[in-house]
Amino acid sequence: MAALLETRLDKPLVGKLAIIGMGLIGSSIARAAKQQNITAEIVASDISETVRARVAELGIVDRVAPTVAAAVQNADMVILCVPVGVNGDVAREMGPWLKPGVIVSDVGSVKTSVVAAIRPYLPANAHLVPAHPVAGTEYSGPDAGFAELFLNRWCILTPPEQEDAAAIDTVKQLWRALGSNVEIMTPSHHDLVLAITSHVPHLIAYNIVGTADELRQVTESEVIKFSAGGFRDFTRIAASDPTMWRDIFLHNKDAVLEMLARFNADLQTAQKMVETGDGDGLFKLFTRTRAIRRGIINLGQETAAPDFGRRIAARNDEPPQ
Ligand code: NAP
Repeated sequence: MAALLETRLDKPLVGKLAIIGMGLIGSSIARAAKQQNITAEIVASDISETVRARVAELGIVDRVAPTVAAAVQNADMVILCVPVGVNGDVAREMGPWLKPGVIVSDVGSVKTSVVAAIRPYLPANAHLVPAHPVAGTEYSGPDAGFAELFLNRWCILTPPEQEDAAAIDTVKQLWRALGSNVEIMTPSHHDLVLAITSHVPHLIAYNIVGTADELRQVTESEVIKFSAGGFRDFTRIAASDPTMWRDIFLHNKDAVLEMLARFNADLQTAQKMVETGDGDGLFKLFTRTRAIRRGIINLGQETAAPDFGRRIAARNDEPPQ
């Protein structure tokens, strides 16, 4: 908490901020933006009436609007925090109501397809600066959000080459004030990097937990009982939101398939080492991967505490998505 307040702004960066989609990410942005004095006013909307009512009850925004159109009117910045697959629909709904010069951003875990889905519906004078906060948990909804979610995490911006430098700078400042480190890359590079660091690991986790679930019919409670042997850590990732992850695999198909092909080849090599009793090969592989884990800890993206630091560190200790 104290560390987040270190980046608190003296005066708001944005006049009116509209947040569409008030789940884990949208509600975390709202909480942190209020705490960090990032915006003079926050108006939020969500397709779900239950979520809108809950957000009003939580008091984390200034106003809850019943529709996307009502939320974005006169907004200086709009951030779409909806599942990847519905960004185009939301952009179509809001396009006619955007004020000239508005900055539109998003938080989608996939960038190439999201940019392609949003851009056609924006007026020519709107600025598009897509973003992906590489921070998250396996929980969803407005109650799951918290202000420190983005603290010391990376946020990747993927603005089009010709985008206005001032608009990019505003979004950069916003994420820095939310506590993040900012990096800029092209949408296609982002999708490739995230395919191997996030998307393929999630697919593997979903798959391994699925396989174990089938085995469970045979082994009954043993899968749960001995889960601390490694399986338990996969189950946390495999508990991630089904809608969000379905959309990610549907919209980052090429990069995921490319990385899966490499993974499958490496898995077959490892399988061969086990088959042939190649202890040296296995030892070399495990030594190399151990060094990667140390590198992640040294960069402050994970704690060295046992049990993945889950009981010891803050909630945003979760691996990025
Ligand atoms: P979430 O907790 O499920 O929140 C998404 C919210 O958007 C839900 O309340 C949903 O309502 C609402 N919504 C769906 N369709 C909508 C529409 N057409 N108009 C307005 N609201 C709509 O999801 P999240 O975890 O915050 O994820 C949101 C985005 O952040 C995704 O694009 C994801 O890729 C990205 N992201 C997520 C993480 C993570 O770890 N969760 C990390 C980084 C980036 P319903 O529930 O009624 O559908």
